[in-house]
Amino acid sequence: MKSYTEHLWFNTSKRIEFINITDKVEQAVKKSGIKEGIVLVNAMHITASVFINDDESGLIEDYKGWLAKLVDPKGYYKHNLTGEDNAYAHLMRTIMGREVVVAITSGKLDFGPWEQIFYGEFDGQRKKRVMVKVIGE
Ligand code: ZN
Repeated sequence: MKSYTEHLWFNTSKRIEFINITDKVEQAVKKSGIKEGIVLVNAMHITASVFINDDESGLIEDYKGWLAKLVDPKGYYKHNLTGEDNAYAHLMRTIMGREVVVAITSGKLDFGPWEQIFYGEFDGQRKKRVMVKVIGE
């Protein structure tokens, strides 16, 4: 069994942002040389997510509206009594998830129709990373 690990770095200009990282994950799989296996892609921070969905601009705007309804960024949170202001970002990360696992078949990401991998940033404007770990043969 082979294994290959890579870290992707992000520093978003907005505090909340969604970035399609499918190409970067595909490149990591290619570099690994693995033809049959799985790739794990996970956010290394508790205020960011990795998730899979459609790359459709309306839907990406819909996440922002939907998340803001569930978790008001300006709401009252006990976590913010510690001097932080990012309780909403921890909660949004929990809703959107930490990681994804994708099958690799014949050296390619084996997706369902329209599936794309996204990095979801909820407390951006600073350097953060995502781990990509490819295992297989
Ligand atoms: Zn915090």
